[in-house]
Amino acid sequence: MSQVRTRFPPSPTGFLHIGGARTALFNYLFARHHGGRFVLRIEDTDRERSTEESVTAILDSLRWLGLEWDEGPFFQSQRTDLYRADAERLLSQGKAYRCYCSHEELESRRQVALKSGHKPMYDRTCRNRNDPPAGRPFAVRFKAHIDGETIVADQVKGHVVFDNRELDDLIIMRSDDTPTYNFCVVVDDALMEINHIIRGDDHLANTPKQIQMYRALDYPVPAFAHIPLILGPDRTRLSKRHGATSVLAYHEMGYLPDALVNYLARLGWAHGDQEIFTRQELIEKFSLENVGKAAGIYNAEKAEWLNAHYIKGMPAGELARVVKPYIAAKGYDLQQSNEWLEKMVKTLQERAKTLVELVEMAHFYLSDNITIDPNAAAKHLKPESTHVLRSVRERLAAASNWDHDGIKACFDAATADLGLGLGKVAQPVRVAITGGTVSPGIFEILDVLGKQRSLTRLDHALATIAGNGPASPATT
Ligand code: GLU
Repeated sequence: MSQVRTRFPPSPTGFLHIGGARTALFNYLFARHHGGRFVLRIEDTDRERSTEESVTAILDSLRWLGLEWDEGPFFQSQRTDLYRADAERLLSQGKAYRCYCSHEELESRRQVALKSGHKPMYDRTCRNRNDPPAGRPFAVRFKAHIDGETIVADQVKGHVVFDNRELDDLIIMRSDDTPTYNFCVVVDDALMEINHIIRGDDHLANTPKQIQMYRALDYPVPAFAHIPLILGPDRTRLSKRHGATSVLAYHEMGYLPDALVNYLARLGWAHGDQEIFTRQELIEKFSLENVGKAAGIYNAEKAEWLNAHYIKGMPAGELARVVKPYIAAKGYDLQQSNEWLEKMVKTLQERAKTLVELVEMAHFYLSDNITIDPNAAAKHLKPESTHVLRSVRERLAAASNWDHDGIKACFDAATADLGLGLGKVAQPVRVAITGGTVSPGIFEILDVLGKQRSLTRLDHALATIAGNGPASPATT
C-alpha cells in the first residue's frame, strides 16, 4: 500500500470545536499509526465568514493539543487557479456545463417544487442548452449521473447506497468565479494525494457527489470513514448548553492537553475497556475498525476525572511550569523560585482536578491575604485553642530544621506535652495557616510556607482569639 495520507481541513469561521479536534485527532492517529503524513488545510473559500483570528485559534488549539501536522497549513484561498483549471477540464470534456439561470429564476422554481411537495433540485434547464445567452453571467455545474447508484464503501458505516436521482447537478464554480466547497475538497484531496478521509458523518451526504467528481476528473477515489458526531448527554448535538465546546476553553479551564487528547480519543473509539492511554499507546492501538457506529456521548465528569489523573501523574517540575501562567492569570505576583513552586504543586497535585482549581487551592501559599472561614474559626480558633497554638508556635519558632521531619518533631513534642492526638493539635494550626479545615498534610504545608510566614499566621490567629486582632486578613 502507498503511504497513508490523511488531512484535517477546518473552515476558519470560529474556534476549534472539540468535535473538530476529535476529527483532527483521529486523522493524526491514523496517519501516525501507519507511518503516514497528516496534512492541514484551511478551507477559507468563504471569504465573508473566514477570519484571521479563527485561523490563529485553530492553529493554536492544534499545537496546544500536540497534533502536529506534517504538511501545511495550505489555504484554499491561494489555490483558486487549481480549481479553475479542473473546472475548465470538466467543461471541455462535457462533464460540466455553464448554467445561466439567475438567482431569481432558481428561487422561483424552488418555491414551485416545494409547493408541489417535490425535493427542490436544479431542473437541469442549462444541462442540454444549445443557445447560451450572450453576455449573461454563468455558474459552472457538475453533470451528475442521472440514474443508477453511487456507493460509499465507508470504513465505519459500511456500504451506503445513494440513488443518483437524489443527487443534484452541483454548482462547482459560482458566477463570481469562486469555487464551492464540494469541488475544492475533491480537487485538493486529490492533488494532495489524500488517500484516507476521516470526517464527521454530517459530511456523508456529500460523499456520493464527491465520488462522482473524483471519477469525472480521473482521480483515484480515496477511502472514506465517517465518524459519528459527538452528542450531549441528552443526545442532541453537542453545544454550549452542555458545557465548554471550544478547545481553547479547555485550555483556559486548566485541562492538560494529554488529558483532553485521551478523552477525545475515547469519544467514539475504544480498545477493550481501557480508559487511560499515553499518546504512544493511542498511536499504536488506533484503528478505524474500533471506531463505533454509535455517537460518542460527551461526559464532563469523565473529562475532569481524566484531567485529575494526568495532573496526579505529571512530574512536579513539569506541573510547576504549566501552572505558572494560571497563577499569573489570577493576578498573583509570583516571587518565589521554581524549586519552591515545584514543592508547592507537589502538595496539591493529588487533589486538583484542573490547573485552575490547583491555583485556587494554592491561595494560602501564593498570598498572605487569606480569609479565615468563620465556621472553621468558630470551631477551631476558640479560647481553648490558645494553649495548643502557643505550644506549637513555641516549638516551631525554636526548630532548627525547617523541613518535613523537623516540623513533625515539633508536633510530636507538642502532642506529647498537651496529651492530645495529632488531629486536635493540627486542626487549629491548619485553620490559622490556610483559613479552612481542608488542606494537604500539615507538615507539608508548613514546610512549603516557610518559617516566618507560618509563625506570623499563628500569631495572627492567637491575636484574633484574644480579641485584639482583625478577623482577617493576616499580614506579614
Ligand atoms: N471544511 C469542512 C468542515 O470544516 C471539511 C469537510 C471535510 O472534511 O471534507 O466541515
